[in-house]
Amino acid sequence: MIKRFIRRVLGLEKKGPVRLARDRHHLSRDRISPGARKVCEVLAQHGFTACVVGGAVRDLLLQIQPKDFDIATDARPEQIKPLFRRALMIGRRFRIVHVMLGGETVEVSTFRAALLLADADSDPARVQDEHGRVLRDNVFGTQEEDARRRDFTVNALFYDPVTEEIIDYHGGLEDLKRHALRIIGDPETRYREDPIRMLRAVRLAAKLGLSIDSSTRAPIRRLASLLETVPPARLFDEMLKLLLSGHASACLRQLREEGLQKGLLPLLDVILDQPLGERFVTLALAQTDARVLDGKPVSPAFLFAALLWHEVLQAWRTREKHGERSIPALDAAMDEVLDRQCEKLAITRRLTATMREVWTMQPRFDQRSGQRALRLLQTPRFRMGYDFLALRAASGEVPADLEAWWRAFQVADAETQRAMLLPDTGPKKRRRRRRKKTPSASPSEAE
Ligand code: ATP
Ligand code: MG
Repeated sequence: MIKRFIRRVLGLEKKGPVRLARDRHHLSRDRISPGARKVCEVLAQHGFTACVVGGAVRDLLLQIQPKDFDIATDARPEQIKPLFRRALMIGRRFRIVHVMLGGETVEVSTFRAALLLADADSDPARVQDEHGRVLRDNVFGTQEEDARRRDFTVNALFYDPVTEEIIDYHGGLEDLKRHALRIIGDPETRYREDPIRMLRAVRLAAKLGLSIDSSTRAPIRRLASLLETVPPARLFDEMLKLLLSGHASACLRQLREEGLQKGLLPLLDVILDQPLGERFVTLALAQTDARVLDGKPVSPAFLFAALLWHEVLQAWRTREKHGERSIPALDAAMDEVLDRQCEKLAITRRLTATMREVWTMQPRFDQRSGQRALRLLQTPRFRMGYDFLALRAASGEVPADLEAWWRAFQVADAETQRAMLLPDTGPKKRRRRRRKKTPSASPSEAE
C-alpha cells in the first residue's frame, strides 16, 4: 500500500487506460458494420482481444459516418486467417489480414509497436533516418503500444463491440469533447518520425472541425521542410486525400498558414498571389468540395490540372514571347511544369496523361468555326475540357461569351450548330506563292 503510494507520488505507477463501460458513452454497437462486428465476435470467442480502432471510433463519436472499420487485435495474422472462410494475408513488410464477409472487406491488424532508435539494439540507422523519420514500424506489440504509435489522441481510441467498452489511453475522449486535435507524445519527435503527420493534422482538423492544439501546432512551421524527405508517392497519396476530403479549400488555406504548401505544390503560393490565379484555384477547390459533399464523383486529374494551370500558362506565355510557336510552346510548358512538380509530388502517370489532354484542349476552344469546332466535340474528354474552360471563364481568364457559346453549342441540334459556327477565322493554310517561272502548277499544289 505504502509502496504503491510512493510509486504514485513519484509518478512511477503505470496509469492504465480509461475504460468507459457501455452505459457511460453513446456509441452503439449497431453503428458498427456487420462484418467488423462479426470479426470481433469470432476473435473474442477464440480468446483474443479485438477492437474497432482509429478513424471509425473517432468519426462515430463525432456523428460522422466512417469510411471503413479497421480492427486491431492481439491475435497474430496466422492465428486470424484460419478463423474465417474467406481471408487473405496481405502486405510484405507488415502482414495484415483482409477478411471478406458478405460484401464487406474488413482489415484486421495485429497490435503493433513503433520501433524507435532508443529501442533498437540492432543497427539503429536502419530504423530511423538522419532526420528522425521512422523507416521501420513492424514489430508486434501490446494494445497500449499500438495506441502509442498512432498519431493523434482522437485516433487512438478502441471500441470493443463485444463488451461495448471504449478504451482510451491518451485522453482522446476528453480531446473530442474539447474539439481539439492533439498529437500523442512529443510533437517534434512525432513529426520527425513521420512528417506526413503535419499534413494529417491539417486535413483531420478541417474534416472534423477540430482545432489543432497549440503545442501540436507550434513546431509545424519550423519543421515544414521535413516533408521534402518523404517519398513523393506517399506525399501524393496524402495530398489526394486532402484534396478530396470535401474540405480542400480550408485545408489549402491552412497549409499556407502553416507554411506547408511549399514542398507540395511548388509555386502554389506564387500562383495564389496573382489575383487571377488565386481566383481560379479558389473556384476549382470550392467546386470540388461542393461535389464531394454532395456525394458526386470528382476527378483528381481535373483538380491537379486546375492547381497547376496558371503555372503552365505562365511558362507557355514566356515561351511564346521568346518566339516559340504556340502549340509546341504549350507542349514544352506542360513538360516543364509536370517535371518540376513530380520531383516533389509523384502525380501518377495516368493522371498526368489526362491533365495534358485537358490543357491541350484549351487553345482549341478558341476555334469556333467549321470542322474544328465539331471535331473538338468528338474528343473523348470534351466534357472535362469544357468544365475547365468554364472555370477559366468564371475566374475572368477568358471571356464569358466563349464559355456561353460552347455551353450552347454542345447541346444544340446539327442545324443550330451549323448556324452557330463562326466564319473561318482560324489560321489560314498558307498559300504557296505561285512562282512566276512555273505557271503550270496544279491548283491542288497551290492550296
Ligand atoms: P480517414 O477518415 O481519412 O480515413 P483515418 O484517421 O482513419 O482518417 P487512415 O489513414 O485510415 O486515417 O489511418 C487509420 C489510423 O491509422 C488512424 O486513425 C491512426 O490511428 C493511424 N495512422 C494513420 N496514419 C498514421 C501516421 N502517419 N502516424 C501514426 N498513425 C497513423
Ligand atoms: Mg480510415
